Amino acid sequence: MQRVLIVEDETSLAETLAVNLKAEGYRTMTASDGPSALDLAAAERPDLIILDIMLPGMDGLAVCRAIRKSSEVPIIMLTAKGREVDKVIGLEVGADDYVTKPFGMLELIARVRAALRRSAGGAAKQDVMEAGGVTLDRERHSVMIDGSPVDLRPREFGLLAALMENKGKPMSREKLLQRVWGEDEYIDQNTVDVHVRRLREKIEKDPGKPERIVTIRGAGYKFQGRE
Ligand code: CA
Repeated sequence: MQRVLIVEDETSLAETLAVNLKAEGYRTMTASDGPSALDLAAAERPDLIILDIMLPGMDGLAVCRAIRKSSEVPIIMLTAKGREVDKVIGLEVGADDYVTKPFGMLELIARVRAALRRSAGGAAKQDVMEAGGVTLDRERHSVMIDGSPVDLRPREFGLLAALMENKGKPMSREKLLQRVWGEDEYIDQNTVDVHVRRLREKIEKDPGKPERIVTIRGAGYKFQGRE
């Protein structure tokens, strides 16, 4: 079931949105201010966020900007009538779409569906990643190294996928833990090192001199792939 985070401080509107989205088969969660929206977005990883611009304290634009630093989740902004400039800034800070208040629920739900469809299409293209002689197929859960299949355990597969997605950029142990083990599990950061070592034994020609997953001192690990 797809999950929608509603960020709106007007309780009655937030409830109306939740009721209507639930009726359409979505699961919903609600935040009434920016900081709690960021916490929920990080902890629950919703499939879509409906984000009101007018929030007390940290406004919706700032929330959007902060979410975009770490996530491509579709965001639909709610803008107030007569505040056309908000739409422009909203799209600039990374919102996918906007709806002007007051709006009809049918219109909003149509926008939600369209945004989720677009994001599913984007994800599908990412099903197979290729770099540095490594081919990773998310759907089949298979990995080939220079054309030969290798057998990875689930966490190793997750690590490799996370690193390949961020090819060329270092990822911290903390970030890798969040991505591969999830936020709820209480695990030592050394776990990441142990799994990277195992992964290297399977995908590097010389695990002692890794060429694919390199250690970046003080920053974590980086996948480097010549095409
Ligand atoms: Ca509001």
